[in-house]
Amino acid sequence: MVFDVVTLFPSMFFGALEGGVLARARRDGKVALRVHDLRRFGVGPHRQVDDTPYGGGGGMVLRPEPFFDAIEWIRTQYPAKNERVLLLSPQGRKLNHGFARELADFDRVLLLSGRYEGVDERVREALVDEELSIGDMVLTGGELPALVLMDVVSRFVPGVLGREGTAEDDTFSDGLLEHPHYTRPARYRGYEVPEVLQSGDHGAIERWRRERAEEATRRKRPDLLQGESRGASREGGGNTGTD
Ligand code: SAM
Repeated sequence: MVFDVVTLFPSMFFGALEGGVLARARRDGKVALRVHDLRRFGVGPHRQVDDTPYGGGGGMVLRPEPFFDAIEWIRTQYPAKNERVLLLSPQGRKLNHGFARELADFDRVLLLSGRYEGVDERVREALVDEELSIGDMVLTGGELPALVLMDVVSRFVPGVLGREGTAEDDTFSDGLLEHPHYTRPARYRGYEVPEVLQSGDHGAIERWRRERAEEATRRKRPDLLQGESRGASREGGGNTGTD
């Protein structure tokens, strides 16, 4: 799985993916990241990438030509059979477990990061398969959302997590939050690890985990237990709607 990212700030990606699971995934060739500087595709001798908005108003808008040229260049240099082009945008479909799992099926996810007032609308119309948001708030740019997306999607790429399929045990995978975890010591400052977890009785442990997962979901995220999103979670892998 390859992520191609087009951004005005390539340096924001250096370091961020150089530790932990994603660093290992990149070293092992399970996931690759190529960062493309939008400025390189800028217009004219000054490589202009933005301009004032038609109709007036404050702020700058990213011009269309650098995005068109960047995508054409990427496709020529690195052809991919099965790609998805996403524009990071607060107006997009909200990223969640199910959406991330869908994206992991593509050979390439091509991410376009906006800045300032955003990106000329013709980019969305002509080049973008889908707009993607990381939540109902506005960030200064698409770089942090792109990093979040790459982290989340990579967890679904086979072999990225130590034990294949582990992502399927996590919170949201079956429409529930995950059960609580404990490790050593068994007793700490008066707090004890539940006895059942130390019992070695796997059936009882499974039942306890299920009950605690349901209890945590009722308490923290009762919305997940409502019929429709629960069904969507099981089949599509999470609440795939826009809420
Ligand atoms: N004027 C735009 C609006 O009101 O919809 C917001 C532009 S925002 C300041 C600049 C860029 O940050 C966007 O083009 C987008 O790429 C990125 N961005 C901001 N919030 C985001 C979010 N919640 N999810 C994904 N990308 C976001």
